[in-house]
Amino acid sequence: MTKKAVITVIGSINMDLVTIASRFPAQGETILGEEFHLIPGGKGANQAVAAARLGAEVHMIGAVGADAFGTELVRALEREGVHIDNIKKVPNHGTGIASITISEQDNRIIVVPGANHSLLPEDIERCESIIANSDACVLQLEIPMPVVERAVSLAKKHHVRVILNPAPAQPLPRELVEKVDFLTPNAHERNVIFEHIDAAAFADKVIVTEGERGVTIQKDGKSMLIPGFRVPVVDTTGAGDTFNGALAVALSKGMSLEDACRFANAAAALSVTKLGAQGGMPTEEEVKRFLQ
Ligand code: ADP
Repeated sequence: MTKKAVITVIGSINMDLVTIASRFPAQGETILGEEFHLIPGGKGANQAVAAARLGAEVHMIGAVGADAFGTELVRALEREGVHIDNIKKVPNHGTGIASITISEQDNRIIVVPGANHSLLPEDIERCESIIANSDACVLQLEIPMPVVERAVSLAKKHHVRVILNPAPAQPLPRELVEKVDFLTPNAHERNVIFEHIDAAAFADKVIVTEGERGVTIQKDGKSMLIPGFRVPVVDTTGAGDTFNGALAVALSKGMSLEDACRFANAAAALSVTKLGAQGGMPTEEEVKRFLQ
């Protein structure tokens, strides 16, 4: 049996409060909705689950509130086999939530970071040995930037590969871009990051996700599309998260960047065929069968 990939995910843990209504209420209006769901989410937790389903040993570093959502979210991660010992419970903030309203015309989302913003650089320092013993560290931008910077510095100190999914979009310090091994923005996020940084200097580490088209990487100084897979789409929430978790696992198993992107495209395609960010995340077996 090949060795398991060991992945540390440092990021957000949210409860998604999903309301489905036929339309949005007008200002001051109250309407009846059709459905309501509580769905575990947060980019960090989603990427941790994606990697765990694909057979990796996953350590999650994050923060939840001392409330019912926090308890439920940590339990859900534990059920997926994710190591939860380094998720701290903070007493003074609620667990992060995303209030999502889905109507026939559009989706509207409000994220309240809550406990996610209580994660501190010191919390990362306590986990130095876990980071040092990982094959890859995976991060996003739903936690404070100083925490991201500390984690990336520690990972590089121990020569651990870093994948930064730069979402939600925000400008990045140049030193951070220099340190990470791979950035996985969509086109919008890429434009925001490289507004004040010379994109050409970092082209080799940028993997641009392009929805159903797949991803674009650089090879021998040229752009190269690694095509996506055509599947019946049910819910694209979490496609990017599945891609990132899968990319970390595939690279950790020694695949080339091209092969790893193909594997991650397949995992992400499978994820959009089912409801919920985590609902459709496939196992390693399912991806292999799909790619046969
Ligand atoms: P984000 O949601 O972060 O903007 P994308 O929409 O680019 O991310 O999706 C990330 C990846 O998920 C894509 O690169 C692709 O591999 C896969 N993916 C997304 N949407 C689809 C789709 N409709 N069909 C197949 N694969 C998809």
